[in-house]
Amino acid sequence: MQARVFDPQDSAGQCSAVNALLVEATIRPRVTTHDSLQPHLHFLPDSADALSRVKAVTAGGLAFVLCWEGGSRLGRCTRSACSRAYVDTSRNGRRRYCTARCGNTEAVMRHRSRQSYPKP
Ligand SMILES: [Zn+2]
Ligand SMILES: [Zn+2]
Repeated sequence: MQARVFDPQDSAGQCSAVNALLVEATIRPRVTTHDSLQPHLHFLPDSADALSRVKAVTAGGLAFVLCWEGGSRLGRCTRSACSRAYVDTSRNGRRRYCTARCGNTEAVMRHRSRQSYPKP
């Protein structure tokens, strides 16, 4: 179910998957200004345990990305041996790999496959 969060081809699936995470995390957002920071959201009280807070921040963060940046920003690495999930924070929103390392690995493989012509 949660795997659908990172399938931008399935917009309705992304929404229902993020909603399921929000329900599971039972977030209770509050605007806070502690330590003279700008007003910002906490998804659970600081008294909540660490696992609950991680779940809440993850669910809330994914919801923000989905609603404000669009589902195309949530994807999976296109290197077939990887398929790790990522949030695309690039300026142009055209990320295809989880890391530059995966992108470089794929580029080297493409380059090598072009070079593999039969030798005389
Ligand atoms: Zn804070
Ligand atoms: Zn990857």
